[in-house]
Amino acid sequence: MKKEMICINCPRGCHLTVDTETKEVTGNTCPRGKAYGISEITNPTRTVTSTVKVEGGVLRRASVKTSAPIPKKMIFQVMDEINKVDAKAPVHIGDVVIKNVLGTSSDIIITKNVEVK
Ligand code: SF4
Repeated sequence: MKKEMICINCPRGCHLTVDTETKEVTGNTCPRGKAYGISEITNPTRTVTSTVKVEGGVLRRASVKTSAPIPKKMIFQVMDEINKVDAKAPVHIGDVVIKNVLGTSSDIIITKNVEVK
């Protein structure tokens, strides 16, 4: 079976065709597209971005993201973990609010500074 997809690794957005049996990838302009096409049919991953609550800060929430892509099938479970976080101001870019979230080897890290109110 052939699967069509768009490579999301750079703005060029190459249209890929991946043969699910032979794992042959066509339409990619560079090797990253080939790796992406294969990972999409074997273990698709995504970087997750969201926000967490912050107590006592100048803002009530701070943005966060996964430090590395996580398996696509775990996105909702990881979002549940992110929603449980209650950080205390100040928080700074790069602070880890969840280490190794659900054993994925990815941390949830702050991507916006929130100082004390
Ligand atoms: S295959 Fe390479 S050039 Fe094409 S979108 Fe992916 S990363 Fe960009």
